[in-house]
Amino acid sequence: MKLQPLNIGDLTFQPYISASEIREKVEEMGQQIRERHAHSNPLFLVILNGAFIFAADLVRACQVPCEITFTRLSSYEGLSSTGQVETLIELNEDIKGRPIIIVEDIIDTGKTLSHFLPILQKSAPSSIEIAAFLVKREAMEYPLKIDYWGYEIPNDFVIGYGLDFDEKGRELPAIYQKVD
Ligand code: 5GP
Ligand code: MG
Repeated sequence: MKLQPLNIGDLTFQPYISASEIREKVEEMGQQIRERHAHSNPLFLVILNGAFIFAADLVRACQVPCEITFTRLSSYEGLSSTGQVETLIELNEDIKGRPIIIVEDIIDTGKTLSHFLPILQKSAPSSIEIAAFLVKREAMEYPLKIDYWGYEIPNDFVIGYGLDFDEKGRELPAIYQKVD
């Protein structure tokens, strides 16, 4: 079935990455994580809200014993970064000595995570890795080592597969790109 463009508010979005492409890619990412973490019992730290769908698929694709927890960071409103990072849900787990895999939907400037990493480091995990489904390399202003990624995409606004435009579009099974 060919997906059609869709409108949200006064913006138009065109199909960009299909649900079946997403499935294949997440399987690959899961396999990469399994190769490193088959016996490490990693703690997946999911960044809400956007990463919730990706995370649900990724932890099942990994097929390794693991734990999952969530935090919420805020730096983004509407179509562009506001430049502030806030921790909206604090972590309750003791992460000392544990391997952490941060799960993000998309990395844009890198600002959110580069501000969050030092906060996380203070709790002394044994390692911190980053798994991001999408990476906008051209937009990156804050250098980050991304350990697992699905697609590198151009600097265009995307929605679907958990990603929203003003809270709309998260439920879409495919990823859509804003049409200029
Ligand atoms: P960064 O701090 O790397 O600039 O921004 C990361 C956050 O901005 C992501 O977790 C995501 O919530 C949001 N973001 C960045 N680019 C996009 C995009 O193209 N679409 C959507 N929906 N959110 C984005
Ligand atoms: Mg996010």
